Amino acid sequence: MDAGRWSLDRLGQRHTANTQGGYVKRGEFALLDSIADMTYIVTETCVDLKDKSCIEVCPVDCIHEAAEDRMVFIDPDECIDCGACVDPCPVDAIYAEEDVPEAQVLFVDINKVYFKDKALARSQVSQIKPPVAT
Ligand code: SF4
Repeated sequence: MDAGRWSLDRLGQRHTANTQGGYVKRGEFALLDSIADMTYIVTETCVDLKDKSCIEVCPVDCIHEAAEDRMVFIDPDECIDCGACVDPCPVDAIYAEEDVPEAQVLFVDINKVYFKDKALARSQVSQIKPPVAT
């Protein structure tokens, strides 16, 4: 991925162009416009690990996962911004939104999209990190 190609959306968030999968598609930003801001984000190192230590410590049970998910997701409407989930993660997958590394910035939107369109979020995860063939 070309980390140098990015633009800002109407929320002031940065989107990196995915030249392989065409991640940024017409209509997706409109979906994000209706989603509340969030404070903590789960990123790529969670994919295919799902250690779930974060789920055990979250005081409001706002970290969700399903068997068909390859990672966990934080519900932006329920998260109380306490930060308790950050340290227990063995792979440092969780960041405050403003601290998400540039290479992981696509996961900001994926975490938000998940709670509106799970299939789309799962597709975006697969575009960034294709499943390993078994
Ligand atoms: Fe849960 Fe706190 Fe992490 Fe939000 S910041 S997901 S409330 S543990």
